[in-house]
Amino acid sequence: MQLQPIGRKKIRAINQNMLVNLIRMHAPISRTQLQKISGLSQGTVVSLITQLIERQLVIETGMAASTGGRKAGLLELSPQGAYAIGIHLMEHHIIAALLDLQGEIHTIEIIPLHLRDHGEEAVALIASSIEQFITQSGVPPQKIIGLGCGISGPVNRLTGVSVDSWILNWHQISIRQPLSERLGMPVFVENAVNCLASYEKLYGRGETCSDFLVISLGRGLGLATVLNQGVYRGAKGIGAEFGHIPLFNNGRLCECGNQGCLEAYVADYGIVETYRELGGSLEPLQREQVDERIIDILYKRAQNGDAAAILAFHRTGRFLGLGIASLVNLYNPACIMIDGGAGHRIELMRDTMHSTLEKHIFSQLGQGLTMLVDTDTNMDNWARGAGCLVLQDFFAPTLFNKQSL
Ligand SMILES: [Zn+2]
Repeated sequence: MQLQPIGRKKIRAINQNMLVNLIRMHAPISRTQLQKISGLSQGTVVSLITQLIERQLVIETGMAASTGGRKAGLLELSPQGAYAIGIHLMEHHIIAALLDLQGEIHTIEIIPLHLRDHGEEAVALIASSIEQFITQSGVPPQKIIGLGCGISGPVNRLTGVSVDSWILNWHQISIRQPLSERLGMPVFVENAVNCLASYEKLYGRGETCSDFLVISLGRGLGLATVLNQGVYRGAKGIGAEFGHIPLFNNGRLCECGNQGCLEAYVADYGIVETYRELGGSLEPLQREQVDERIIDILYKRAQNGDAAAILAFHRTGRFLGLGIASLVNLYNPACIMIDGGAGHRIELMRDTMHSTLEKHIFSQLGQGLTMLVDTDTNMDNWARGAGCLVLQDFFAPTLFNKQSL
């Protein structure tokens, strides 16, 4: 490979990116302090900061204490300098969030859209909805630096293609290219649980944690693995699929088409199946009708003493415990977050899940492990996490943040 020299324009962009990050990390900060930390010349810092102020990405917020001579202006990022959109795709709606440069929500909306089964047409509908969402937000479109999209199932991040989303019944659906062409902005596509983990790492409970797992439990079973501060995605960028590790040979039929996957035993439809096996009746009910409402019905039945419902949740806790014990044995995480609208039903699985973990975690791998179970069914952070993809790219070192690389 022939190496190309880096032009002056590129060097200027690299230096500007460095200053933006230094301001983000050390604000409020003066030009003199920036010069010392960055090692850049005074002239370069002054010139680049002037440009950033003109672009409204940086603002002067006050004056540093004087040590004689002129007081130095203090700089920080302008939250309104740029915005990112994050969308989380679900079967019957999308959650769209507009984030400012500090990751705070400016606008968030649930937009009803029937996405299941429709693939390409659904992507066109998403584009129209986002155009409307931008107009209604009142933010000038030129200030929006990109859109992040979170979707269930494996995703090819380089091409922005949804490889397989069993929840949406999408297979090899291109998302990045059509959305980017239509909206005229960079688009990033990522597995939804990885988006949530990005949010937790940047702004949430994983901020100070280098190795943690996020498990989403509900309609399906997903996993994001954060190792050594970053999301692990495997060699082809589409790992890791916790829900589809085999639990039984020739077991239940999973939504992915295989038999015996863990998801077929612990996702909502798996709990209903176990309830049926134990003699419980929810007829007439098809698999595709298994939604939050049905799980709520089962939960209430268990609370009212329905023995089959109680046992179904207990058994699910054991299956989940087996899966999580394998993850702990593999990764030795400091923390596991169970999220994804798992809601109160996790309470009924907790005891059997913990006893299974105690039994199967190897040696001292579980020592000091923190388990955080989120019973809140609010899914705003999923859309916020998708928006974080854009912000991460914006703040990433300039040489490496281009989608083409
Ligand atoms: Zn499966």
